[in-house]
Order: sequence, then structure tokens, then C-alpha cells
Amino acid sequence: MSDKKFASQADLEEKKVSFDRLSEHAYAYTAEGDPNTGIVVGDDAVLVVDTQATPVMAQDVIRRIREVTDKPIRYIVLSHYHAVRVLGASAYRPEHIIASRDTYDLIVERGEADMKSEIERFPRLFRAVESVPGLTWPTLVFERRLTLSLGKLAVEIMQLGRGHTKGDTVVWLPQERILFSGDLVEYGATPYTGDAYLTDWPATLDALAALNPEKLVPGRGASLQTRQAVQEGLDGTREFITAMFGAVKRGAAAGRDLRSVYKETYAALKPRFGDWVIFDHCLPFDVSRAFDEATQYRDPRVWTAQRDKELWQSLEE
Ligand SMILES: [Zn+2]
Repeated sequence: MSDKKFASQADLEEKKVSFDRLSEHAYAYTAEGDPNTGIVVGDDAVLVVDTQATPVMAQDVIRRIREVTDKPIRYIVLSHYHAVRVLGASAYRPEHIIASRDTYDLIVERGEADMKSEIERFPRLFRAVESVPGLTWPTLVFERRLTLSLGKLAVEIMQLGRGHTKGDTVVWLPQERILFSGDLVEYGATPYTGDAYLTDWPATLDALAALNPEKLVPGRGASLQTRQAVQEGLDGTREFITAMFGAVKRGAAAGRDLRSVYKETYAALKPRFGDWVIFDHCLPFDVSRAFDEATQYRDPRVWTAQRDKELWQSLEE
């Protein structure tokens, strides 16, 4: 038996929240590697990028927003479908919940299974889970790009390519060159790739870099407030994706099974990335998806609470 507890069930320590002002219009709610929320304050309304995992947890975001503005929170943007990002939406009482068509399709196809899987993986991240009223359904679904004007402030909501999921959506403030990337970029936190398109992800990072952002709010980790920090976030994410998928592809091509490929990849990545948060949590799911993509599954398979546990037992015990 390994001493690793399933996923993040042993991760119980509360994190410290930061609420950073990035510009006149943009704020980042971050928490030492826990999922981030972005806030855009327009002339007439507030837009929130990712909601936190439960309505009770979202109340802390709302409290911070109310310290800087009393404008109505009208829009929620879902960077992707993962439960830990979207299930707090009802707390904001938004007029619209905006998502890409691909994100909407994923909620239809696997939202229910994903909710159960994520709640078991990360109990700490679903504080007051009983306050979740059910799945979060988008009310406004777009393809490729949606331009929203919050008074004079332009907000570009864009799907620039697949990576962390097939529905990945970024929010871009062109006048201020500020990007909210969702889990396409992480900083000091391990990218989760259980639902990823690893072959496509680097080109999507190229598309993000081509916007030439001055500041970037990643999916997890501190807000990146200089061009150098933005570059580090993009480079670190790319380095992890490339190293992990590369190791798995080599193992799969050599005919080794998932368990041996996992052990080799874990050992190869641990010295460089082992101190990034949720490394031990992510690696089994990351390697499993990478192995699937390298062998026979073009699209990620649905994770269920049951499949999570079977995988964990097959790799860690
Ligand atoms: Zn995610």
C-alpha cells in the first residue's frame, strides 16, 4: 500500500486569499494554488470569470467585490466546465452565464459525473457542498468569440484552441492587455490534464502569447503582474505539458503498460515539478489521459467517482 491518500483527500489546510487590483477594471481572487476567480468591473456592471466551487465559497468573492464596487454582477464567464470552477454560480444571481458551445456540450455529456468525481477528489475545495443547487447551466452560449461592451470597456470572450479541455475559454481586456486564462495556464501549480488535448495545448499557448498580455490571471497560482511573470507562467505550463506527454508517448511507443509508464513519468517529473501544488493529486489522472491520447482515445473519457478510485488503486497501490 502506498501512503498517498486518494487524490486531495489529505489536503485539509486552508489557504490564504489574495485580492489583487490589476488595473482600474480588473481584479484577481487567488489562494495559493487553489482555483482562482477573475473580476472585471465595467462602467455599468461586473463580470466574474469562474465562480468558486460552492455558493458559500462564492460569498467570499462577493464580499471582496463589494469592497471595491457596488455595480451589479451581471455576467459570469465559465472558463471551462469543471465543477470546482462553476458550481458557485448561483450565489452571484447573474443575468447571464456565458460559456463556449464546447463547454456547454461537456456539461450536457459529463457534468453530472464530473461533479461527483470532483467532490470526492477535493473535499476541502467544496466547502458547504450542500449549498450547491445542482449543475450550473450556461444561459448564453457562443462559438469562437463574443465581444461584450461594459460601457466603454471592451471584453473579448474567446475560444482560442483546445488544451485543458475542449471548451477552454479566455477573457481578454484589449485596452489593458489583461488576460484571464483559466486552467490553460497555471503558476506554481500542477496542470491537471485528465480531460486535456495534449497534442493541441502548446499551439493554444502560442495563441495566448500572441495576444501579448501585460498581466495574466492563471487558473491556479498568483496573478502574474509583469511581462516577465506572464512569460514564466506560459513557459512553465508548456514545459510541464511537453515533458509529461513526451515521457508518456515514449513509454507507450516502447509497449510498456500504464502502470510502468506512470512510475517512470512520476520519477522523471518529480525533481522539476514535485513542489508544484497538487502534483501527487494530478499525476495519475494526467498520465492516464496522456496514455489514452498516445494510444487509442482521441477524446478524453468521462471520469466517474468509480473510475477515479480504480485508477488510483491500479497505480498507487
Ligand atoms: Zn479545470
